[in-house]
Amino acid sequence: VARQSTGPVIRAERSYVMIKPDGVQRGLVGEIITRFERKGFQLKGLKLFQTPEDLAKEHYKDLASKPFYGKLVDYIISGPVVAMIWEGDGVVASARKLIGATNPLAAEPGTIRGDFAVEVGRNVVHGSDSPENGEREIGLWFEETEVVEWTRDMTPWLKE
Ligand code: GDP
Ligand code: MG
Repeated sequence: VARQSTGPVIRAERSYVMIKPDGVQRGLVGEIITRFERKGFQLKGLKLFQTPEDLAKEHYKDLASKPFYGKLVDYIISGPVVAMIWEGDGVVASARKLIGATNPLAAEPGTIRGDFAVEVGRNVVHGSDSPENGEREIGLWFEETEVVEWTRDMTPWLKE
């Protein structure tokens, strides 16, 4: 966290990224983490987590009016997820590019959904759609004590 001499705390951009239950069941955890790691984002939180129904509902509350909302909540609580915080400049938009389009058949090859999925209802991974929602979702899924502040020795080799 950087603090200007006056004014508010400027926090590095963070995204909430989640490997959904199908990604965990299919053994894609390492593959997905590798893509964010090798891109150069910094991991700030990580846990395997069985999602309570009320949390799944809150996470997707903006979609509550959609016909697929019930199925979506059932999907997210159908098995453990891997909940992650990734940090870095532009991480929210870049994570969405790494993840690919919502409909995996429309997702480009080379993206996670493009490479590993065929249906919107089993699209393997979640990424926040704005920095504001990133912070909202991190607040929903992580306790403050689960967010790890650490210095990555590799950073000078990634950023000038
Ligand atoms: P995302 O930001 O790319 O994950 O997409 P959205 O925020 O629009 O939707 C959230 C999640 O709801 C998606 O990742 C899908 O798992 C699911 N979803 C979205 N649209 C549909 C749909 O038309 N049918 C079904 N079954 N699930 C959907
Ligand atoms: Mg979304």
